[in-house]
Amino acid sequence: MEFIEVADRVWVQRHEWFDLNLTVIAGTTGVAVIDTGASELFGRGLRDQVRALTSTPLIAVVNTHEHFDHTLGNAAFDDVAIIAHETAAANTPEAAVRGIAETVDDVRADEIRSSRIVPATETFASVRALDLGERQIELVHPGRGHTGGDIVALIPDADLLIAGDLIEESAPPAYGPDSFPLEWAASLDLVSSLAPAARYVPGHGAVVDAAFVAEQRDQIATVAETIRILAADGVRADAVLDSGTWPFPREALRHAVARGWAQLPRGSLRLPMA
Ligand SMILES: [Zn+2]
Repeated sequence: MEFIEVADRVWVQRHEWFDLNLTVIAGTTGVAVIDTGASELFGRGLRDQVRALTSTPLIAVVNTHEHFDHTLGNAAFDDVAIIAHETAAANTPEAAVRGIAETVDDVRADEIRSSRIVPATETFASVRALDLGERQIELVHPGRGHTGGDIVALIPDADLLIAGDLIEESAPPAYGPDSFPLEWAASLDLVSSLAPAARYVPGHGAVVDAAFVAEQRDQIATVAETIRILAADGVRADAVLDSGTWPFPREALRHAVARGWAQLPRGSLRLPMA
């Protein structure tokens, strides 16, 4: 798989394994890699590719969130700073264990399972700058959504934003058992406000524009609103998926409903109708 230069010294590789995007950003004094793939072996290959792209020293790795397909390659970068949101770093071991359990049928399951689990070594809560020389990368936690520790990386001079799985192009947004369906749209509002005219690199799939992000944000808001309305109407949690009109396939929303229900303010739940 190859890296494509999508902006000046910003390369993105859309890898067929999990359709994952990996990003490399070079400045005059340092290079950063965003997300590291689903295994330690994959991470080693990634590191070799980064070295072939640029001779500028690698100074940091960033995890957009804790999921195994974004972090198990960290082990290949354990001699440089690995940066993530504090929640993502704390949840990385648990997310790795869950990912290993979910991928027992993957052709590369052995490779996934044998990876060392290396959480981020440098964490932050809301904002952090990453200095690559003449170029500053802004790392921002816009709020919770896909996970509790999502961050995005803004490259202001390239008008490019690396969004992690807060945005997905090749599949519906992934609502997992650790997602925050009711907060996700507001987090995307903040992401959009950071870079209104930007192009966005999603966690999985093709680079998208602001119109795509706005549409996905509205769909995510519709999921939250539908959960709120059905809860207020007294629909039972186990009947919600069959009752609502949803913007994504129902099978993609099982966790969204369960999580949304659990996260509703107490007063908004009516007793289920008999
Ligand atoms: Zn994810």
